[in-house]
Amino acid sequence: MHTLVIRNVRPMGGEATSVMIREGRIAGYGQEVEGGAETLDGGGAIMIPGLVEAHTHMDKTLLGMGWYRNEVGPRLIDKIENERMQRRVLGIDPARQSARQAVLAASLGTTHIRTHVDVDTEVGVAGIEGVLETRERYRDMIDIELVAFPQSGMLIRPGTVELMDRALQLGAQVVGGLDPAAIDRDPKGHLDAVFGLAERHGVPVDIHLHEPAELGAFSMELIIERTKALGLQGKVTISHAFCLGMADQDYVAALIDALAEARIHILTTAPASRPAPAVKRLVEAGIVVAAGTDGVRDTWGPYNNPDMLERAVLVGLRNNLRRDDEVALALDTCTHGGARMMGLDDYGLNTGDRADLVLVEGETLADAVVSRRPRRMVLKGGKVIARDGVALFEAP
Ligand SMILES: [Zn+2]
Repeated sequence: MHTLVIRNVRPMGGEATSVMIREGRIAGYGQEVEGGAETLDGGGAIMIPGLVEAHTHMDKTLLGMGWYRNEVGPRLIDKIENERMQRRVLGIDPARQSARQAVLAASLGTTHIRTHVDVDTEVGVAGIEGVLETRERYRDMIDIELVAFPQSGMLIRPGTVELMDRALQLGAQVVGGLDPAAIDRDPKGHLDAVFGLAERHGVPVDIHLHEPAELGAFSMELIIERTKALGLQGKVTISHAFCLGMADQDYVAALIDALAEARIHILTTAPASRPAPAVKRLVEAGIVVAAGTDGVRDTWGPYNNPDMLERAVLVGLRNNLRRDDEVALALDTCTHGGARMMGLDDYGLNTGDRADLVLVEGETLADAVVSRRPRRMVLKGGKVIARDGVALFEAP
């Protein structure tokens, strides 16, 4: 039985100890090193559980493809249509691009990803097939969960619902949705289709909801109704949820209560340029809050890299989280929040949990987050897969 011991690590910035890993799981702390065990020096680094990227779009990142000159229009629909066109013009290969992001993310300590993959009447399920290829190829280095995502709408493009069904048959694990009122302009029809697919395939739901203020709140109420009617409490995520950042605080309070009751999770990127959900308030209401990068250098915008410590900083900045315990809360959205959203079993630093671990330097946990130094070591299932910020496997 292979045993690995990493000496001199500080779990969550606490006292230095050694961690023993056996059969890919944490076997205990501070034990005597057994004869024959492989040992590594943690160098006093802080040990945190693997970072969780709970919302991205790996099929369409432009990583490694040269600079894309962005001249896209201001509306959401401009970006959607431009992207469908650029996919052909630039030759964005979902398998290659998702592999590039997977390797980069792993080098930064991400051990789990939920990625929304476009399904539409032009690309069909080719994006799904490409990302499934990446999921298989790197299955020992990173866990990738696919959301079948109707980026171009469903009802306005007949045939999309059938393609979504096909994507879920092929291996997508979550059904996605998008702005039921603003894109399909048929909130009831859109959500009936999304929740119908979820019921038929027995999968969770994750809906992009960019709709602002009262419009978003209206769609959110329809999502809450369906979640409760179908007994999907704990299985539904609303991504972005910009409407929770609206001015009417009484309405926001009512929505938060309803979300908590239906155990709906909220995913935020902590956007600097949009109203956004108040992370601490949601967490205090008992709602699972996860964080994600969204698009990484794609035709939507030139920003973002998949470093989830950077995302924790952005969550902190956007939410005015300053105290050390608040920085830890920001980090939690990028670790345990994402893990709970994705329903990951055996996630964390307890004995028996999967040894998906990140070693990062810092005086304290908050220092490690804000300094976000190159990750000293990343382990997936007890195996070292990156060192000093460099993945030990390659991208195409
Ligand atoms: Zn997204």
